[in-house]
Amino acid sequence: MSDVRNVIIIGSGPAGYTAALYTARASLKPLVFEGAVTAGGALMNTTDVENFPGFQDGIMGPELMDNMRAQAERFGAELIPDDVIAVDLTGDIKTVTDTAGTVHRAKAVIVTTGSQHRKLGLPNEDALSGRGVSWCATCDGFFFKDQDIAVVGGGDTAMEEATFLSRFAKSVTIVHRRDSLRASKAMQERAFADPKIKFAWDSEVAGVHGEQKLSGLTLRNTKTGETSELAVTGLFIAVGHDPRTELFKGQLDLDDEGYLKVDAPSTRTNLTGVFGAGDVVDHTYRQAITAAGTGCSAALDAERFLAVLA
Ligand code: FAD
Repeated sequence: MSDVRNVIIIGSGPAGYTAALYTARASLKPLVFEGAVTAGGALMNTTDVENFPGFQDGIMGPELMDNMRAQAERFGAELIPDDVIAVDLTGDIKTVTDTAGTVHRAKAVIVTTGSQHRKLGLPNEDALSGRGVSWCATCDGFFFKDQDIAVVGGGDTAMEEATFLSRFAKSVTIVHRRDSLRASKAMQERAFADPKIKFAWDSEVAGVHGEQKLSGLTLRNTKTGETSELAVTGLFIAVGHDPRTELFKGQLDLDDEGYLKVDAPSTRTNLTGVFGAGDVVDHTYRQAITAAGTGCSAALDAERFLAVLA
């Protein structure tokens, strides 16, 4: 068992590294669990990031995350590329167990484990991520000016993505497995009224094609089983996200969709000394800059909490 640290941060996306940077600069010597295979978080899976302020010409996702990592390390954050497999956050001293079974102890814990976008589960989907296949219209819509694109999903997010994308795209085809939408009436009406938006009803994506870039999709009719080809250069997958909160169930309060609940505008959770930030809390904005922003808030909340303890 290790000595008691001031703060342990679980997760290494923009929220985790920002929390690490701030707590390190406050001389709290944070220990950061970065994750075993996904250190750096969601932006490690993308190419150009054009909307993170401070990079006039944009920056590649992995490079941005390497910079954040190095900046946190420069001020003394201790970074471990491993998963946390168990936690006990209920007492004054919190415990966090790594994959080797070592138990780490701290007075405060910041949870920044992010959320996982749901995938279609098709071959080629990952390979074409950032090369035509995207999970974020706000992030990538601009790259698809005057192109034919498709959006998969039938909920509010899918409608929002489609109406946003129709500003740039030549056409947007919403691919939905049923013959009616789950989205709210207002969102549906906006989509129906948009001349650039078409619908492929009773359809699912059965194939994603392209070598270096997406060139088209195979659609399968969910009623007849018939297949057809759709030539598109963009595919936006809007079938939901799963927050990574499995570890915390039964200890931290979660909302109906499994996101971590915090006492907004603070980042305090229901347990004293435990803070949450980034996409694991946020189902609304889901941007690197908002994750970094709440990561900063969590660090400041933890710092103030620790100052009162001292
Ligand atoms: P994440 O980045 O998801 O990081 C979570 C971290 O937690 C990961 O490192 C993971 O390994 C770690 N973790 C999880 N569980 C454990 C555990 N048990 N133990 C240890 N570590 C754990 N946003 C933009 O602003 N601009 C863009 O251009 C943009 N493009 C995107 C492109 C793609 C393909 C995707 C998927 C997202 C994009 N986003 C973009 C959204 C942005 O990436 C997210 O909003 C942001 O990364 C969220 O940051 P986060 O720190 O909350 O979580």
